[in-house]
Amino acid sequence: VERCVITMMFFLPLTVLVCVVWFQWEVHQRTLNGSQFYTYQVCNVEEREQDNWLRTTFIQRHPSASRVFVELKFIVRDCNSFGEGTLTCKETFNLFTSESDADVGTTFRKGQFRKVATIAPDEITKRNEMHLNTETRYVENLSRKGFYLAFQDIGACVAIFSVRVFYKTCPATVKSLAVFPETVARGGEKQVLREVSGTCVENAESEEQPRIYCTLDGEWVVPVGQCQCKPGFEEAEDSCRECQPGFFKADASSSKCEPCPDNTQRLNPGASFCPCMAGFYRAHTDPITGPCSGLPSAPKDLEATSNHLPAGKLLLSWNPPEYTGGRDDITYSVLCQRCESFECKPCGEKIRYDPASMGLTVTRVSVSELDAHFNYTFTVEAHSGVSVLRINTTGLPFYPPRIASMRLVERDSTSLSLSWDVSPRQLVQSPSVHYELAYRKKDNKLDVTTYVVLKLERSSVKISDLAPGTAYLVKVQAFSSDGSSGGSSVEEQFETLSDEHLNKTGVILTSAVGGAIMLLLVIVILVLCRRSNSHARQGPEDAYFSNPEQLKPLKTYVDPHTYEDPNIAVLKFATEIHPSHITKQKVIGAGEFGEVYRGILKGPGRKEVAVAIKTLKPGYTEKQRQDFLSEASIMGQFTHQNIIRLEGVVTKFKHAMIVTEYMENGALDRYLRDHDGEFTSYQLLGMLRGIAAGMKYLSEMSYVHRDLAARNILVNTTLECKVSDFGLSRVLEDEPEGTYTTSGGKIPIRWTAPEAIAYRKFTSASDVWSFGIVMWEVMAFGERPYWDMSNHEVMKAINEAFRLPAPMDCPSAVYQLMLQCWLQDRSKRPRFGDIVSLLDKLLRSPDSLKTIADFDPRVSIRLPSTSGSDGSPFRSVSEWLESIKMNQYVENFTLAGVISMDQVLQMKTEDIRKIGVRLPGHLKRIAYSILGLKDQTSTLSVFAV
Ligand code: AMP
Repeated sequence: VERCVITMMFFLPLTVLVCVVWFQWEVHQRTLNGSQFYTYQVCNVEEREQDNWLRTTFIQRHPSASRVFVELKFIVRDCNSFGEGTLTCKETFNLFTSESDADVGTTFRKGQFRKVATIAPDEITKRNEMHLNTETRYVENLSRKGFYLAFQDIGACVAIFSVRVFYKTCPATVKSLAVFPETVARGGEKQVLREVSGTCVENAESEEQPRIYCTLDGEWVVPVGQCQCKPGFEEAEDSCRECQPGFFKADASSSKCEPCPDNTQRLNPGASFCPCMAGFYRAHTDPITGPCSGLPSAPKDLEATSNHLPAGKLLLSWNPPEYTGGRDDITYSVLCQRCESFECKPCGEKIRYDPASMGLTVTRVSVSELDAHFNYTFTVEAHSGVSVLRINTTGLPFYPPRIASMRLVERDSTSLSLSWDVSPRQLVQSPSVHYELAYRKKDNKLDVTTYVVLKLERSSVKISDLAPGTAYLVKVQAFSSDGSSGGSSVEEQFETLSDEHLNKTGVILTSAVGGAIMLLLVIVILVLCRRSNSHARQGPEDAYFSNPEQLKPLKTYVDPHTYEDPNIAVLKFATEIHPSHITKQKVIGAGEFGEVYRGILKGPGRKEVAVAIKTLKPGYTEKQRQDFLSEASIMGQFTHQNIIRLEGVVTKFKHAMIVTEYMENGALDRYLRDHDGEFTSYQLLGMLRGIAAGMKYLSEMSYVHRDLAARNILVNTTLECKVSDFGLSRVLEDEPEGTYTTSGGKIPIRWTAPEAIAYRKFTSASDVWSFGIVMWEVMAFGERPYWDMSNHEVMKAINEAFRLPAPMDCPSAVYQLMLQCWLQDRSKRPRFGDIVSLLDKLLRSPDSLKTIADFDPRVSIRLPSTSGSDGSPFRSVSEWLESIKMNQYVENFTLAGVISMDQVLQMKTEDIRKIGVRLPGHLKRIAYSILGLKDQTSTLSVFAV
């Protein structure tokens, strides 16, 4: 049998052909061109009515190969060469095929074969010369598991040398940066071309799916759709490679990476844009591909003249700034302050400016309606398109920080405690604002004005070792992280108390001399330090010094429990307030230990400030009192724009209180639920950036929060978010979400990282997990994480690698960051520093927020929107609207005549808009709910993986 194997299958993964059935066909050995061949041959030319069959073994078919080619090599003898007696001689034979799902062995039924072709030689073999013919035919529309081929001889003299059976494929290829797999060329009349979908090579993308066609002959033709290298990548031989360091590519295109423009940073390879160098910015209207510009320097030569002008009027003029930051959109604004008894206030609306006080393009302005005999201070600021651009938590314009008011908190004979606010107009959004306070004795006899300069991280200070009964002049300047400042505050005068207890002049003298010596000492030390400190800012006329003591930042958080007596910790970290300085106004919340009030704090020599007052309910135990106050001991150690600020505590009276800054908009989860759909992703991201900055600060201080959740973030009127809730016992007792775990203690399961639940491994990395949940809460406008799933279901889902799906309308980059925060391996989660940088990056290029993460309303809106709470369809439009928390629109639906759920189901997004639902968030919520109603079959307990 082996000898009949004369096939060579080029493309064919089939088993070899074996000839098994023959009538009259014989195996012969032949020599052709010096080589030996075995052939099948038949030559009954002298007998009538020949019907000799030769059949192959079963040939298995590749499932995609519906058309196979059969290449035959054979010779046919010339009938004339046999002489007279061969009238029946033929010079052709037939090719047959029969399909089958199984090998039928040697069973042979002629009737099962269909004819494929009559095979005729191109050249007939004459007596002395042999002509080998090659003919190829195809068998198409094959559909069963395999087939047989058969050769029918009807009286010819034929020898078959070889049969090659094959099908054709288009080879795997890369075309226009798309990868196409090896594809079997189709057979059949209707499918001459086979459409094949491809995928873009790594780091390339395409708007439409790339496609190409495979011809019957195994050739690729007509590629459709072009893949392009993603931002940060350029094409290099059928692949996309990262831009080199110092180069960038902003879009998905076929262009090459370009060098980073002026004033930008050289990044690692693969940059999609070059971020501005510190101190340089791009305006919203500046292309991301363009250079960055610096902030303009201050206007020059500011002059005020009232000569020849009516009373109450003056003319301010100035020259353009020396440095425009490379921009030509410079404008000016004029600020006016009126100072009276060392207190400066904004001049108010009475003052008139011509042509205007803001947005000036000219360098002069006339000011009128000024009152006589008052000191006015005018500040002219130069702005450009980038002045308002620096990232802030609120998405509001940024202005360099400026001190609004300074006040005396406390004083005695040798010290002054001062605190100050930053102007509310110039919101300080930069988390790392620091201050330089400069003070000097008022009646300095030295001919040069010598200041002592303190560098400070917080907006308050206690200046010690001062001379009793002495007037000091103090000014403060605030700097943002990039070193910009809104200028120094007006110099204010504060006086130490004269030492009443020291009656004897000699003692007073000693003390004064001592104080002076101390001051001198400080100055001498500071002069030395100053010399080595090239970063300090120094005005030409002021000698500035810095106090090394004050430079030391508070590094690590101290656990108040490490104090034997927690009361000492409170005293150390919190200022004692006299209850008479506190006025409670209204209950605004309930904490574990008692009510929380809104109120007013008015300390001696201080302005009134709005505060939140936490109280300890009557009947407390000493342990509860200590736990209550431990929150103040912790909070008092933090000074950060995004951490709730402790004003002080009342511990020396029966009713203990904790007084903090007042956050007008209360808890974040509640606030977002009340303003569902009202903020853009950009604004939400601004809030998250603030929270991340606060958490970065806490993690740098080695403080692990353990209960980071939107309910523990407070929001003020400028939408600044601050981390709160630092009670030591809170995770154990005070947590409404707390659930007892097998490892002991109460844990807010939905917000807590798996390792913290499993074995109480609380770290900054577990805080990062919780931050991911807060991100989700914020982007979902206060939706409850994992909806109504039980804690047990949540833990199970998390352990099975399920994660919360993207909230509606959530930018893809933001959802990706959430998923990073929820990595099982805590060492792989980003750190808060990384999170802040990434959020800053996204905020700097709002375009990066345009790609929205996949959102499946059936999975992601776990509103009871698919059916009524009992699983039945909604009975009325109002019941449905209530279920999706949109009942404010009941009237809109009624007025528009939409009164049945059937009508609701017919509504398109445009119809919803027409009846008066305008907020995009609400519009989507309603539209998605309708979508969900239409698809009742979906199961809602599924998560995106
Ligand atoms: P807490 O015990 O800290 O969770 O406070 C209970 C509730 O009081 C919070 O959910 C807020 O609604 C409110 N609250 C607490 N502190 C402040 C604050 N500083 N400003 C405004 N509201 C606050």
